[in-house]
Amino acid sequence: MKTSLRPRVGVLGAGQLALMLAQAGKQIDVAVICAGQPGDCAEQIAPLVVVDLNDAAAVAAFAASVDLLTIESENINADVLHGLNLYPNAQAIGIAQDRLLEKQFFESCGIGVAPYAAVDGVDDFDRAFAATGLPAILKTRRMGYDGKGQVRLQRAEEAAAAWEEVGRVPCIVEGMVPFDAEVSLIAARDRAGKIVFYPLIQNFHREGILRTSIAPYADAALQHKAEAYMAGLLEKLDYVGILAVEFFVVKEELVANEMAPRVHNSGHWTIEGSRTSQFENHLRAITGMELGGTDSEPTVMLNCIGTMPSEEETAGFPALYRHDYGKESRPGRKVGHLTCAAAETATIEEWQKRLQ
Ligand code: AMP
Repeated sequence: MKTSLRPRVGVLGAGQLALMLAQAGKQIDVAVICAGQPGDCAEQIAPLVVVDLNDAAAVAAFAASVDLLTIESENINADVLHGLNLYPNAQAIGIAQDRLLEKQFFESCGIGVAPYAAVDGVDDFDRAFAATGLPAILKTRRMGYDGKGQVRLQRAEEAAAAWEEVGRVPCIVEGMVPFDAEVSLIAARDRAGKIVFYPLIQNFHREGILRTSIAPYADAALQHKAEAYMAGLLEKLDYVGILAVEFFVVKEELVANEMAPRVHNSGHWTIEGSRTSQFENHLRAITGMELGGTDSEPTVMLNCIGTMPSEEETAGFPALYRHDYGKESRPGRKVGHLTCAAAETATIEEWQKRLQ
């Protein structure tokens, strides 16, 4: 590792997560340099090196130009990650990018998951449904995000068409979890093994895309349980950086859905709502700085999907922070988010109706 007074962190990827990491870096004197393609949104505030993230030699050359590397998406070719000075480590990324390995890993840590079975061909479905029951969800093992690579199955007869729809790639079938709520826990672990946790966040999805996050999901028993699970995962992976875990709440229990080995959309509210944002704590953890406090104010985050609402549309809402990622409008695309102090539930619903 090169030594310099000001750590130079390379981010593989240059989307909005890299953009917000770069913004946090400016506050703590960490230089964030992004690897991506011209026009990627982080280019607005961070130096961008044009790198094909599937090209191992190009990634290695980028790695040699910075002190250490991190990622903004787990959907990155594992072959390019070997031998890099990377936080979190390649093993953690490898597990998080494969739904089958991820489920097995949760189970090995004593964390409950939905009933599931691997499917590698159309003949595997009957055996899978015997394990999961119906209805169920077919999910590609890799490269799924924002509900992509998923097909809901009501009846066994739909399996063949679903298998075609996902492109005949290795999958899992998952039983439906009758959840009371969806929550996520975000934590940071530093190089010395110290962990800080944010409060549980309640998340609301539509069409597989996160729309709203509300913090905290105030349930002391579940917070305690989630933190114990999180500590187990972090320690087993010897993890450094921010990790996010999404859970289904089923009565008094937490069922793990998936984990993200990076800063997470459900934690964007921490920029205004916490003493230290998830972005700053990620940079602190991976560069060997002391972690910042995570004491937080009740906060709501609304994702802007497709287009940014105009200033006029949001002008009437109090204490509202607009984050416009400067991306072109496109259906289903995350183009920005809004953060506000949590208010009465009815008011939040009013905001959702008007803005989402
Ligand atoms: P995922 O990409 O796995 O996070 O799935 C996207 C969304 O689909 C989740 O946030 C849930 O709202 C829903 N979902 C996914 N898997 C299940 C499941 N096994 N049972 C019930 N709902 C699910």
